[in-house]
Formats: sequence, C-alpha cells, structure tokens
Amino acid sequence: MGLTKRRLDFRPPVLDKNMHKIIACRRVILITGAGLSAPSGLRPYNGAAAKELDPDSPNHAIDWEMRPREVIDYHRRRAIAAAEAEPNAGHRSITVCQERMAAANGSLTIFTLNTDELHERANSHVHHVYGQLSWEVCSDCGTHTPAMHRVSTCPCGGKRRPDVLLRGEGHKYDAEVAFKAAVKRSDAIICVGTSGESDAVRAWVRVATTHYGLPSLLLTRHPTDTFGAMFDSVVDNASQEIRHYLPR
Ligand SMILES: [Zn+2]
Repeated sequence: MGLTKRRLDFRPPVLDKNMHKIIACRRVILITGAGLSAPSGLRPYNGAAAKELDPDSPNHAIDWEMRPREVIDYHRRRAIAAAEAEPNAGHRSITVCQERMAAANGSLTIFTLNTDELHERANSHVHHVYGQLSWEVCSDCGTHTPAMHRVSTCPCGGKRRPDVLLRGEGHKYDAEVAFKAAVKRSDAIICVGTSGESDAVRAWVRVATTHYGLPSLLLTRHPTDTFGAMFDSVVDNASQEIRHYLPR
C-alpha cells in the first residue's frame, strides 16, 4: 500500500492547457516567496504566518523608531539562519531554467520576496522586492554597506539600518521599475510559494494578467481563494515541484 502511494507521488503532474502554454513561453516572470525557502528551514518573514510564529517580532516600521537595537538583533538572527541554510531543489531548478532560457535568447526574470539570498547562492539572478539580510543602508544618504548587525553610524551622520523593508514600508522602488520593464516583454507570469499577502505582488499580478493579458500560474501550499482567483491555473503543492511548471 505504502509503496503504491509513493510511486503515485513520483508521477509527473498532469498539466492543463494553460500550463502547457506557459511551459512553451520564452520570456517569463517568476515571483518567489517564503514557501520556496521553507524546505531550507527558513521561516516566513512577513505576513500572517510570520506573525503567528513570532507575534512579537520587531519587523514593523514603528519598531525601527521605538526599538532599533531589537530590530538589528532580530535581523542578525535571521541573517545567521539564512547563512546557515542551503538552497533547495526548488532554487536549483529555477537556476537551471533561467540559464537555459537565457541561452535560448529568452529570459526568466525573477522577483523574490525573500531576503535570504538563497537564489543567489544557487546562482540565479534576481530582483529583491524587500531587500537583503546581508546588507545595511544608511537611513539618511542611502549608502549600502555589508551588514555589521550592530548599531552604527554612517560617515554622513545617519543611522545605519538593515537593508530590508519593514512591515508598513512598502517595497523596493528598483524592483518595481524592473517589473514594469519586464512585464512589457514577457509572455507569462508564475508565482511560487506565496499566499499573496504582499501588496506589491497582488498589484503586479493584476497588471500582468488584466493589463497585459499574460497567462498565469500559482504554485503554493494552501492557496487562498482570493489570491488564487487572480490566476488561470492554481496548484496546491510544495514549492520544489516548480520544476514541472517552468518553461522547458
Ligand atoms: Zn549616510
């Protein structure tokens, strides 16, 4: 009985018409979220799931005003966890796809909500929507420096802070500019490992699907009805399964 079940689990998934269309595309946008890093042992940073796991986590804009030392400590712990984690099969299959598409004069443009840099460590090129844990930024002049994870001051006199956007601070402007450029020349959009709690992601998916009419796919565990309704195809499964749904 157990053996039969395992065999069934290894069967490739049945793709619908929309999925077949997407895997034949040459220029694709991929948005990745916390679900992709979960098998590497990293917890979600933002949203309801993160709040449930760690209700007092100092990752709100107000915390930076009220308790900056705790914000820095919290990000130091997260940076250590990220440095100790390894990219998983999901990250690796995305890298393989990005390289293959680039070699065929196509593109897989990746936007990640994750601050852990596991994509880079798997050799993918990505745009960070919320920043990177290994960097700090001066809150006055905007100069970036490698994270020291302690209270420090920039030569300009400004306070250095983690280069990660806190809750209530929106998303990276650079990433938005990159998305607007990418969406014009893309044929499809895929989201993996995100439940759509990011305002940026919901807005971007809406632009891609309604304004540009791109075919869309969501792969995540327990997708919500409201977010799922934004996509042509929704798959409730682990993020590592992304290899089945990426362009061939
Ligand atoms: Zn400065």
